[in-house]
Amino acid sequence: MERYQLEDMEVIFDCAGRDDWGKFSFPVWYGIPVKVNWRGYRVDFNLRGGLKRLTGTMSVWPDPQSSLKRTEGNDFIYYGTSGYEFSYDLIKNYYMPFNGIYESDLFTENPLEGRHVGQALDAFDGLVEAAGRLAASALCDRPRDFLKKVAARNRVTLAEDAKTLHRIIGTNLPVLPPDTIDVDYEVIPLIVTEGCKSNCRFCLFKSAGDFRVRSRQSIAAQIRAVKDFYGADLVNYNSVVLGQNDALAAGGELLTGTADMAYDLLNLSASYHRGRPRLYIFGGVDSFLAADDSLFEGLERLPYSTSINVGLESPDQETLDRLGKPLRAEKVRESFRKMQEVNRCRRNIEVSCNFVLGGDLPSRNVEAIKTMLTEEKTTKGKGVVYLSPLLGASQRREVLREFRAIKMASPLPVFIYLAQRL
Ligand code: SF4
Repeated sequence: MERYQLEDMEVIFDCAGRDDWGKFSFPVWYGIPVKVNWRGYRVDFNLRGGLKRLTGTMSVWPDPQSSLKRTEGNDFIYYGTSGYEFSYDLIKNYYMPFNGIYESDLFTENPLEGRHVGQALDAFDGLVEAAGRLAASALCDRPRDFLKKVAARNRVTLAEDAKTLHRIIGTNLPVLPPDTIDVDYEVIPLIVTEGCKSNCRFCLFKSAGDFRVRSRQSIAAQIRAVKDFYGADLVNYNSVVLGQNDALAAGGELLTGTADMAYDLLNLSASYHRGRPRLYIFGGVDSFLAADDSLFEGLERLPYSTSINVGLESPDQETLDRLGKPLRAEKVRESFRKMQEVNRCRRNIEVSCNFVLGGDLPSRNVEAIKTMLTEEKTTKGKGVVYLSPLLGASQRREVLREFRAIKMASPLPVFIYLAQRL
């Protein structure tokens, strides 16, 4: 580590955080940020000088277990533990990520509205100003150059930065695959398809328009522009998400071609994070059932660990009809069987699935999910089942009761998905 003290600001370079995306019940940081300590606040910056994470000493930040993270989409996520002692069992993470965008009835309060959060963001504005002043008087190149970058990224320009990323990929990602919680949602987005073939009535996440696949040329241009955007901070990533909601329908050649090109151009083999890079893909039931051996063999040969998340929603026909999902329950069950088969046979691919809970769905929904999961006898420790409470229509107590009933009956790991976006 290299430390510099400039008046009341401490700047620390080369802060090697965890490189394994491990889950811990105490605060850790991932990757290599630049840490700045100023007036009680502890602020992590990415290597481009953008705000990444914020916490502080007890004088300014009341809960040392909690932190505020900024995403590259310029959303803030509040990570806290208070009141969620069983959060790992619930969501596969010791910290509950609250983004304030998709209000989940699981949260009893809005931590982003806490007074200390507002004060911390005001303090960040002050830090950015101070960085500009201190950069002008810094004697050494390294802190001077870095503080200039910090000074150029106030809250307004950070919002512009996020717009630039969304312009490059041509959209935002209204929802990330649930498995991205395994890398703390730190994924590089690349869009290969848009729109959705199903247009389910209940869905709040579908991207606009008819389903379409982007051309190879536009994807290649996207990867090159994304590389420039992340710049020096690329080393902090080893995960790519291929959007949007049914990217699997792009077909094996486009998926593997995109993943290979991203691996090379984004230099993922040089990532700070150890282990195989991760590739995240959403798939619809039809595209998953249509995916043949050649598609899975192509993904299997990639230098990634690939996670495919399939939106099954419910094995109960009445529930599917209530959701406005144009799908037969038999296909859901067939997809679930195929999910187990892929998980058994493919070493570098893991398929997870989603079901919905809550709202005024028929009570048979939970029973049908339990029955289908219980019938699965041959898990190999792969294949997570995520339960998504219908947003704005689910009672906390009811969702928790249904979640526990399914979790206790299931031989597969079961978690709630709290939707995140980018
Ligand atoms: S298939 Fe999935 S993404 Fe598409 S509309 Fe239905 S629920 Fe939404």
